[in-house]
Amino acid sequence: MDLFKKCYEFTRADEVKAMGVYPYFRPIEENEGPVVKIEGKRIIMAGSNNYLGLTGHPKVKEAAIKAVEKYGTGCSGSRYLTGTLDLHIELETRLAKFFNTEAVLLYSTGYQTAQGIIPTLVQRNEYVISDKDNHACIVAGTLMTKGSMGELLRYKHNDMDDLERVISKIPLDAGKLIVSDGVFSTGGEIVELPRLNEIAKKYNARILIDDAHAVGVIGKGGRGTASEFNLEKEIDLTMGTFSKTFASLGGFVAGAERVINYLKHFSSALIFSASPTPASVAAALAALDILEEHPELVDKLIGNANYMRTNLRALGFNVLEGRTAIVPVIVGDDALAFQMWRMLYDNGVFVNVFISPGVPQGRQMMRTSYMATHEKHHLDEILNVFETAGKKLGII
Ligand code: PMP
Repeated sequence: MDLFKKCYEFTRADEVKAMGVYPYFRPIEENEGPVVKIEGKRIIMAGSNNYLGLTGHPKVKEAAIKAVEKYGTGCSGSRYLTGTLDLHIELETRLAKFFNTEAVLLYSTGYQTAQGIIPTLVQRNEYVISDKDNHACIVAGTLMTKGSMGELLRYKHNDMDDLERVISKIPLDAGKLIVSDGVFSTGGEIVELPRLNEIAKKYNARILIDDAHAVGVIGKGGRGTASEFNLEKEIDLTMGTFSKTFASLGGFVAGAERVINYLKHFSSALIFSASPTPASVAAALAALDILEEHPELVDKLIGNANYMRTNLRALGFNVLEGRTAIVPVIVGDDALAFQMWRMLYDNGVFVNVFISPGVPQGRQMMRTSYMATHEKHHLDEILNVFETAGKKLGII
């Protein structure tokens, strides 16, 4: 049997393209702010993770340009060998201070960060216990424990009774890591951290929280999930990304110095991959400066998301509860989701479409997300376009 048979037989994307409703891989021609240009058209972006809108900020751009001038375009080596710049250390030190942890380690993407942490820490006769709705990079990282001889267990999404049911069956003295998204990337809900922490302490488990969608969004001054619940001292490891609030590319993990030191010496995803580029690191540093100097941007972001949550619901849409930057509008059907996306797009609004099997049947959604740089007139325009499309399609 030809290995590629499955590739030739995969025609779903072609069918959706033929129907003119294919929403993926759209090349963006201009990307300066909440308004982008696609196919020559002005489109309001309501699906970006550029939460504070800093990718176009003059200080962030200038920092990246200066870093290229000083250090060149790439590091051509891993952190372990020739790829560590003073800039990497500066960002690690600054982030450790920001999160009030002993140490931070950078990875080249957030995706890699999960793969760098989980199989490195969870080894023979040790356990990782993961929320069933965790991000794909955590799923990948937990599956890698097959290679490190660790054990993988999962619990129902954000269901702390189920977590306790699962964890209580593991020997009390076995090493354990509970992993959860801080803010879940699809539904935007926040982990039940106080209960998760109690369970972790009761059963001798360490905690890893993925704060990709939490930093710059929740917690004091955007310091993420642990800060949101005043549990900074209790959460062993927090990982995150530079591809959202930090307007760049790369990942990081924050925690105790001895644990970070161990990851530095045993994490394959770090040792065998080139370090983040000078421009990426400098951009993230500049974004961090702005986040520290302007915590009001976080309030503006949350105000924008709350405005949309309230007003989309007032229009009659089925909007999931939440208090983060992610505002999912449930449509409940693949075909309807694609049609809705096309109508929004034709009328100048870009959102993300989540269909099955990425989300369960009935949960197909327009996953909208907001930025601190959206102004009220942008948000009202998005609402108008949603209202027209929703009425035409009989959704509201
Ligand atoms: N974790 C979560 C929860 C995410 O949503 C993402 C990106 N979508 C990542 C990790 C991966 O981050 P990166 O883009 O840096 O690979």
